[in-house]
Formats: sequence, structure tokens, C-alpha cells
Amino acid sequence: MSQAVTRSTFDEVMVPNYSPAGFIPVRGEGSRVWDQSGREYVDLAGGIAVNSLGHCHPELVAALTEQAGQLWHVSNVFTNEPALKLASLLVEKTFAERVFFCNSGAEANEAAFKLARKYASDHFGAHKHEILSTRNSFHGRTLFTVSVGGQPKYTEGFAPVPAGIRHFDYNDIESLEALISDATCAVVVEPVQGEGGVLPANQAFLEAARALCDKHGALLIFDEVQTGVGRSGSLYAYMEYGVTPDILTSAKSLGGGFPIGAMLTTSKVGASFVVGTHGSTYGGNPLACAVALRVIEIVSRQETLDGVRAKAARLSRGLSELGERFGVFESVRGMGLLLGCVLTSAYAGRARDVLKAAEEEGLMLLVAGTNVVRLAPSLLVSDADIDEGLSRLERALSRLTR
Ligand SMILES: *Cc1c(COP(=O)(O)O)cnc(C)c1O
Repeated sequence: MSQAVTRSTFDEVMVPNYSPAGFIPVRGEGSRVWDQSGREYVDLAGGIAVNSLGHCHPELVAALTEQAGQLWHVSNVFTNEPALKLASLLVEKTFAERVFFCNSGAEANEAAFKLARKYASDHFGAHKHEILSTRNSFHGRTLFTVSVGGQPKYTEGFAPVPAGIRHFDYNDIESLEALISDATCAVVVEPVQGEGGVLPANQAFLEAARALCDKHGALLIFDEVQTGVGRSGSLYAYMEYGVTPDILTSAKSLGGGFPIGAMLTTSKVGASFVVGTHGSTYGGNPLACAVALRVIEIVSRQETLDGVRAKAARLSRGLSELGERFGVFESVRGMGLLLGCVLTSAYAGRARDVLKAAEEEGLMLLVAGTNVVRLAPSLLVSDADIDEGLSRLERALSRLTR
């Protein structure tokens, strides 16, 4: 017999690496979530930019349950139809000519960094192995990806870390110029730094990164784990900038809540992953790919992408107004439906307090560091849910500032 579980069960049976909210969500529909007690929340967190079509979207439920009655898993000893359909659609809709599937953002980046090293080793030799990444970036939690990530606090206590990784300043062309050399195999950039505070890249910075990579024979990797799959208003954020990477990583929104990651690249670069060089037991799993196929089909409709722009404008306008009225937000930044509210100096470091106050008013938000309140709602969030979320935030800020 299964026993009742509560929030305190978490502290009894889980490793203490997370500190989840006080309530336990049990059901979701669109941008609304209900907890164990039946209390309802407006969800503008979107499972950290994962629930791209909200909770339990009927078309995703159908895709998953149809596939669940067909074939769950065969491993990569065999290929499968959903994986091939999804890869074909991604190739059709993006710069990519080849796709590798895995189960998370970290794995997609792990594959990207390994491919960049392998490609450089194949074409130039072992000396060309340096990976350059930006300070304050986030690329996942495996030892390699966390080392490429530019937040030293995440590697503390895990030494020795992989070698051949150096960091430069985001949006700072000179700082990249100073590090890049013929020993560089790849430069990795998030088009919007997500975990690092929802900070978008400057146009000139991405263009310079592309040019410097070309000059030094390095690959340009865009980590679009957070910015990808419609969130920016384009299918991928690189399309907003018109700067094309050699490798792009995708996860989070790609599965709409079902775990999947993908690495997209060109035929030439992808060719270095010859048989046996890399792999994943679950990568390209039929259940995950069937769901992601439907996600990409829905997100790449023009009406969905137009909707993202309209909803983003409505949400950011509302956030700016509230931020100004209560003196809590200094600015609202980001791209599309990935928004960050930067706290004023009066509330510096108190992003968690805003989150807590919002939770008390029935609103789910995120933080990005201690100084930015982050929102990454469903791309299909309704105007009514945006407005209700804003009025709950208004009550939360009113209480916080009282
Ligand atoms: C979340 C995130 C990752 C890691 O993805 P996981 O699925 O948690 O492994 C990597 N890069 C970026 C930019 C992210 O936002």
C-alpha cells in the first residue's frame, strides 16, 4: 500500500540538493496548476522553460498515449520512426543537416563539446582542444558541462575538473579576442544567458563571435537549451539574430515536459561522430521523440510564433508597470517569453523573497540568481492567465513592499 507523501517527506528521503516550494503540485492544465490541497496556481515558471505548450496539452497527451500503445524503446541498436521523423523536421526547419538525440540539456552540451574536440582532433590535431565559454554561463551539471559553464560556485568541491576550458566576458568582443587562438576548438554562447540572469546577447557580439570562430577555424556552439523551440519568437533564437552556429543544443521546451535533448549540426562537423564515438541508451527514445515531434509541429506554426511575440509584449509591459509602481524592478529584459525582472538596489539580492510572496498569492515564478525574477511560461499562455498572473504579482509585491 502506498503511503501519503507530504513536503516533509522530501527532507526525509531525498538528497538535499534542492529546496522545493512548500506545496506539491499534483495536476496541471494549460497555465494552471493545482496542489495536494486543491489550491490553484497560475504557472508563469513553465517548469523552467520546459512546459512549452503548458500542462497536459491535448495534442501532446495524444502523441504520448498513441506512442505508448505502439513502441516504448528499442535502443540505438535499432532506429525508430518517431526519431527519424523528428530529426527530419528539425533538419527541415533549421540550419542543421544532422541530429543527435539524448535526454537532457547537459547531455546535448556534453555531446556538442565532445564533437567539437573530436572534429578539431580529426582535422587539425590534438593541440586544438580549447573550449571558450562566457563567464556566468550555464551549460548543465555533468562534470564537463559544469566546468565549461562560467559559474565557479558550481564546480567548487568537484576538482579535478576537465582541462582546456577558458572563460571570457559575455557581450565583450575584446575579451573573446584576447583568448581565441588556433588552439581554440569551440566557442560556446547562450544567445540569452538564462540561469545567469536572462541577459540577451548583443547583435554585434554574436556577429563577432561568428567571425572570430571562422578566422581561427573554431566551431561556434549556441546553447539554445533555454532559448530554443519558439521561446524567442523564432523557432530558435539564432534566427532572431541571423547568426548561424555550427552546433546548436536543444532540450527543455523541446519535449514540452517529456525528457529529451538534441544536438544539431552540419554534415561536415557531424561526420566526426563515426560509429562507436558517442552514444546514449535512451537517446532518440520513441516516446520522447513522438512528443517532441508534435511540439515542433505546433511551435513552428506561424500563429504560435506570432502569439509568443504578442504575449511577451503584454507580459513584459505588465511587469514593467508593476516594477515601477512598487519600485521593485529596475528593468525587464530578455527575449520573447523568457523574461527577467532585475531588482532595484532597494531589493537587491531578494529574488527569492519575491518568489515566496508570489507563491503565497498562487503564482509560480522562477529566479535567475539572487537578483533577477525569471518568467518562462507556456508559449500558449492565454491573455487571461497573463493578466491573472500579473494581478497576483501585484498583490505579492504590495505585500512585500508594505
Ligand atoms: C537548463 C540548461 C542546461 C541544462 O539542461 P538539463 O536538461 O538540466 O541538463 C544547459 N544549458 C542551458 C542554457 C540551460 O538553460
